[in-house]
Amino acid sequence: MLPKIIESGLFETIQFPYNAVERQAEEYLRLASEKDMGVIIMKPLAGGAIINKNLALRFAFEQDFITSLIPGMDSVQQVRQNASVGEEFIPLNEKERAVLQEEVEDLGSHFCRRCGYCAPCPVGIDIPTNFLMEGYYTRYNLKEWATERYNSFDPNAGDCIKCGECESRCPYDLNIISMLEEVDYIFSKN
Ligand code: SF4
Ligand code: SF4
Repeated sequence: MLPKIIESGLFETIQFPYNAVERQAEEYLRLASEKDMGVIIMKPLAGGAIINKNLALRFAFEQDFITSLIPGMDSVQQVRQNASVGEEFIPLNEKERAVLQEEVEDLGSHFCRRCGYCAPCPVGIDIPTNFLMEGYYTRYNLKEWATERYNSFDPNAGDCIKCGECESRCPYDLNIISMLEEVDYIFSKN
């Protein structure tokens, strides 16, 4: 939909996820910027998955097609930390770029981009949403809420029959079966 939306000329801004791990929309975000649309970036820290947050924000700031970044924040301290990156922007040096790249490569092998290409699962498991709940549990510390949601899914990760159909469709070659096992393990501890 992105190119259609951009070419329509009906919108002044576009808001989409973009970060060092999730760069799949870069071409269209650049196109939006060329058409003088405001480009608002969601999830510049990959939903909290990137550990080197300062480097991740500076990576995003380096992209000239981005107008605004809107990382999630839940404390005044985080607001100050994030704002300071923009106020005193320092481009990444080569060493920092290498550190971020190493993390991106490590994360890339087990980070779901929520593209949905793995669907349909013959059992009916909503694969990206199960990974999303795991993220809420482990990264956002919303353990109780995520567990409640996960347990309400029927089926959930624990119902995987390991047919492998999803893995053959994932463009990022994720080991979905073992990742789902991990998700179920995390939630079954509760
Ligand atoms: S491996 Fe599991 S999650 Fe993937 S399609 Fe088969 S049953 Fe669904
Ligand atoms: S295809 Fe891969 S990256 Fe996309 S939603 Fe499914 S598991 Fe996630």
